[in-house]
Amino acid sequence: MKIICVGRNYTDHVKELGNSTPKEPVIFCKPDSAILQPRNPFVIPPWTKEVHHELELIMRIGKVGKYIEPKYALSYVDSISVGIDFTARDIQSELKKAGLPWEKAKGFDGSAAIGRWIKGSPNKKNYEIQLFKNNDLVQKGNTRDFIFSIEELICYISQFFTLKSGDIIFTGTPSGVASVEAGDELICKLDGNSLLSLSIR
Ligand code: MG
Repeated sequence: MKIICVGRNYTDHVKELGNSTPKEPVIFCKPDSAILQPRNPFVIPPWTKEVHHELELIMRIGKVGKYIEPKYALSYVDSISVGIDFTARDIQSELKKAGLPWEKAKGFDGSAAIGRWIKGSPNKKNYEIQLFKNNDLVQKGNTRDFIFSIEELICYISQFFTLKSGDIIFTGTPSGVASVEAGDELICKLDGNSLLSLSIR
């Protein structure tokens, strides 16, 4: 399976990182080794001094598709949940400055934390996602604020990458990204339901 991630899909997050609003989705991939196994802590790698949490709505693909039309896109989604796209921001900034690919900063082991799946394809436009760090609400977003809709993302991604059953799409983070420290406890919610909790080590 593969993990496809969308960057810059909320205007408020585009602004906070000083990026420009994209004309088409920004996409990148993480390898399957990036998946943080359930109930494992997230261990900050020794080669970074700044790992950010990026709370995101995530989707799991249920069937093979290529050049998927927006009107059929939702039927390709098997389940939804929330996840964290952990990002070594210091490394990413260096790579961006040098015009180099982001993979080391985005695709490292454990960088894809995945919540408990809720079966079914998305059936509304306004999913609310929340991230609590040590019981404080630090990130919240609503999918009605997406720059590109779920249908547009699936259509766009499937032009380049054949989507297969089990593939996971991270749909981008709202504002509020910040560093995690050893000892932090994170909880991610979808419409108020806790679907992912993990410790930072
Ligand atoms: Mg992200």
